[in-house]
Amino acid sequence: QPVVLPRSEHSISRKQIDPDTLKVLYRLSRKGFKAYLVGGGVRDLLLGRSPKDFDVGTDATPNQVKKLFRNCFLVGRRFRLAHVRFGADQVVEVATFRRQARPEDLPDDPAEHFMFAENIFGSPREDAFRRDFTINALFYDIESFAIVDYVGGLEDLNQRRLRAIGDPLVRFTEDPVRMLRALEFSARLDFSLDESVREAIYVRAPLIAEAAPARIREELMELFRHRVAGRVLRDAQAMGLLPHLLAGFEGETETFDLLEKVDARTAAGVAIEEPFALAAIYLTRFLRVCPPGADLTVTEAVRLAGLTLAPHCGYFHVAHGIRHQARELLIGFFRLARGRGFRGERRFLQHPMTPQALDLLCLWQQISGGDPALVEQWRPALAEATSPQPQEKQAAARR
Ligand code: ATP
Ligand code: MG
Repeated sequence: QPVVLPRSEHSISRKQIDPDTLKVLYRLSRKGFKAYLVGGGVRDLLLGRSPKDFDVGTDATPNQVKKLFRNCFLVGRRFRLAHVRFGADQVVEVATFRRQARPEDLPDDPAEHFMFAENIFGSPREDAFRRDFTINALFYDIESFAIVDYVGGLEDLNQRRLRAIGDPLVRFTEDPVRMLRALEFSARLDFSLDESVREAIYVRAPLIAEAAPARIREELMELFRHRVAGRVLRDAQAMGLLPHLLAGFEGETETFDLLEKVDARTAAGVAIEEPFALAAIYLTRFLRVCPPGADLTVTEAVRLAGLTLAPHCGYFHVAHGIRHQARELLIGFFRLARGRGFRGERRFLQHPMTPQALDLLCLWQQISGGDPALVEQWRPALAEATSPQPQEKQAAARR
C-alpha cells in the first residue's frame, strides 16, 4: 500500500501548477481516468523549487488521450506519449502508466525489444517502480489533491537523500545513464547519495561506456544547463565514472575548476551552448599540446585544436557546425592568450566566436591565477574592431 499524504499535510497547492497542465489533469479526471502530476514536477514543488516542466501520468491510453483533446499529437516510438498543445509553444506531456517489461513480454527478435520494452502499460504502482530514484516517483493526484508515494520518496525528500528504487546494482545495469543522473540530482538538489548508490556506481562505472552516445551527450548538456557540470564531473572522477564516460579523460583539477566557473557564468544568465561546453572540457588538454607561450603558428594551433576535439566529436557524432565552433573557440583562446597585436588583428577580432573565446580566457585567468590585465587589454580592441567604421557608418546613413 502506498503512503498517501492528504492535502492538509503537504505544501503543494494548485496555484503552483501551470494552468494548462491543470486543464489536462481536470479533463482526464472528469472523464473518469486517473490523472496524476508525476516525476520531477512533484519533487520540485515539495522542495519549494519551481519545476522546469510538469508531466502528467494517467491510466488513459495514448489513443484515449488523443480523443479527449483537440490539439493532441502522439509522439515517440520507443516511448509513446501524448502531447497536448496550447498556443504556439506550450506542450503538456501526458504519459500512460507503464511497467517494466518482463522477459515473456518481449518478442523473440531482440532487435524489436526496444519498441516494446518501454511501452507496456501498467498500474500506477508499477509506474512508480519503473522510475529511477525514489524522489522522482512521487505522484500528485488531482482528484484528492493528495501525494501518493509507493517507494518511500517522501521520507528521502525529508532526509535530503538520493536513493534508487530497488537494487541500484540492478537498476544501473538496466540503464547505466542512471549513474550520471544520480550525480546530477545530488548536485542540483544538494542531496546526499545513498551509500548503496555510491557503492553501485563504483562497481558499475565501466558500463556507462556502453550507453548510447546520444543519451550521454544529452545528459552532459543537461549538466551544463543546470550549472552543475563542474561539480558532477568532479564527483564522476572521484567515483571512477569519468574515464568511462569520456573515453580516456584524465580529469585535471583545473578542468573541474574551470567548469565550475562556466557554471557560474551560466548562473549569471549567459546561455550555455555546446561549443563553449566542449571547448571548456578540453581546454586543459589543448593547452598541454598547444601552450600559448610556445612559438606555434596559428595553422599549427588549428591542427592541434582539431586533434584535441576529434575523439569526442567522432564518438558522439557532434555535427560539423558545432565541432567547428568549438575548434574556433580553442583557436581564439590561443590567439588571445598569446596577447600579440591587440590592435592589428581586426579580422580575428571580428570573428563571431571571439567574444566567447575572450569569455573563456577570462574564466581561465580566474582559475590559473593569470594576469587579468590581458583580458582587459583585449576588451577595448574588441569593442573597437566590432564597432562600425567611419565608412560603414556613412554607408549605413545612405541606406
Ligand atoms: P528535470 O526535468 O527537472 O531534469 P525530472 O525528474 O523531470 O527532472 P526527466 O529527465 O525530465 O527528469 O524525467 C522525468 C521522469 O522520468 C523522472 O522524474 C523519472 O521518474 C523518470 N525517468 C527519467 N529518466 C529515467 C531513467 N533513465 N530511468 C528510470 N526513470 C527515469
Ligand atoms: Mg522533467
